[in-house]
Amino acid sequence: MEFGFELALCAHLEHATDWVLARQLGGAVAAPGSRVVDVVGLVPGPAFDDRARITDRTIPPKAVESTAGVGEAVPVAEAVDAHPDRARGIADAAVDCGFFAEERRGGTRHVRKATRYPDDWFDELVAIENKPDLGRPGDLRRQLRVDTSLALFDRVVLATESHVTGAHLNRIPETVGVWRFHPDTGDREVVREATSLDPDAPGVELLAEHPGRTDVAVVDPAEKAAKRRRIAERAYGKGWRTYAFPGCGNCEATEDGRPRCAHFDRVVDPASDCGESCSGWTADDAAATAADGDALRAERTPWVRDPPGVVRRQTGLDRFG
Ligand code: SF4
Repeated sequence: MEFGFELALCAHLEHATDWVLARQLGGAVAAPGSRVVDVVGLVPGPAFDDRARITDRTIPPKAVESTAGVGEAVPVAEAVDAHPDRARGIADAAVDCGFFAEERRGGTRHVRKATRYPDDWFDELVAIENKPDLGRPGDLRRQLRVDTSLALFDRVVLATESHVTGAHLNRIPETVGVWRFHPDTGDREVVREATSLDPDAPGVELLAEHPGRTDVAVVDPAEKAAKRRRIAERAYGKGWRTYAFPGCGNCEATEDGRPRCAHFDRVVDPASDCGESCSGWTADDAAATAADGDALRAERTPWVRDPPGVVRRQTGLDRFG
């Protein structure tokens, strides 16, 4: 249920906003794997086009954070703060996506940034927690407390299909916005607007709760800024159509690229619902290429597929510099 709800919400937001959307991204700093946000909405900022021009992939965070400049190439070991093997891999990925330019000097590989990394390419990051059925809230309270107290995102929203009562609202932190969303019709009602949080201030990350005691870590603004950039990069590279279509003839793509099963008459999660053990499985290799998610993404969002890149232009400038 939650998978279909999540995809329907992404498809709706893709249509209704100019956000770049991605699913299932880490949203904690001190204990990185401890919080995974269902949907992240990246609101484009003034330098969005500068970022889009570089690459359609995620630029490796360590490359973005590298002290290497644009003007002069430095040895990889100096440019990337990591174990030498990892540093090489990170440099490879950064060269491959066009953010680093490389050259050999005296047998040593040197890299420099092919362009300055744009600071203000996104305005806001919105975290959306999906809980289609508020009658089964699971870990919802803890998740929302983590998000609001850490304030890594500019806004936090709870999306549900349930009727939202006053009692529900009282149990949800008051800064959290609430949407009621109907996945079948794509109707979204804003029950409560989210209040903007302050990502530039220190945050408190809840690590563990014990009876009478809560373990926390204080996260300073610089750590939050770095994590926000990583989330933005990941969101830009990843998107929300991260599933592969199954090789089953009953699976078809909706016009927005969701995997819909004609046999069960609903959107399915190919990773968990589909396979030869399914009662409706009908082998059909062609079905695995039912949708071109990247083409839909390029057509419907500000994300730019396969941009020209910045390396060659910079090299040209160097020649005359
Ligand atoms: S494998 Fe089963 S659930 Fe998946 S598309 Fe085929 S019939 Fe539907």
